[in-house]
Amino acid sequence: MESYLTHSQEETQRIAAMFSNRLVPGDVVALEGDLGAGKTTFTQGLVAALGSLARVKSPTFTVAHEYPIEGNSRIRRIVHSDFYRFSSAEELRELELESYHDGATIFLGEWPERVGGVLPGETYRVFFKHQGGDTRLLTIISHAQEETSLNQQ
Ligand code: ADP
Ligand code: MG
Repeated sequence: MESYLTHSQEETQRIAAMFSNRLVPGDVVALEGDLGAGKTTFTQGLVAALGSLARVKSPTFTVAHEYPIEGNSRIRRIVHSDFYRFSSAEELRELELESYHDGATIFLGEWPERVGGVLPGETYRVFFKHQGGDTRLLTIISHAQEETSLNQQ
């Protein structure tokens, strides 16, 4: 687990770019935090860092936005969803997220709390907290690390 303080949109995007280096195809990243805390901003930084020229918009009124990635040998696509308007895990099942577990895709989902708490296949969670003004606290948790440290006990 690690935490970062960011003081601007650009700084949040740089943290996302740094984080993108450790992603492998199949990773599922849950983005948790209040409205305006920076979840979509983080996604923009991540998509840009992985080499997509597309502009990331909030997917609130569409089920998912897909960003093809060029020039990365393994990650071919980023899929970004926002579950703010969902109300159950059942609705999430209809999305058939498994179809994104294709060995080439990174999935990012905002508001995992709306769809049962944990996303299917979730590998990372990023928490976003308002700290007043433009300051945000970002905390990144890798579920793989948790399992490893549990196994070592
Ligand atoms: P969310 O997706 O969590 O609802 P957004 O990323 O869409 O939030 O919006 C965050 C808003 O807060 C943007 O308008 C952005 O410019 C502003 N902002 C101010 N400071 C920061 C920061 N440190 N990190 C991210 N966004 C920030
Ligand atoms: Mg958002």
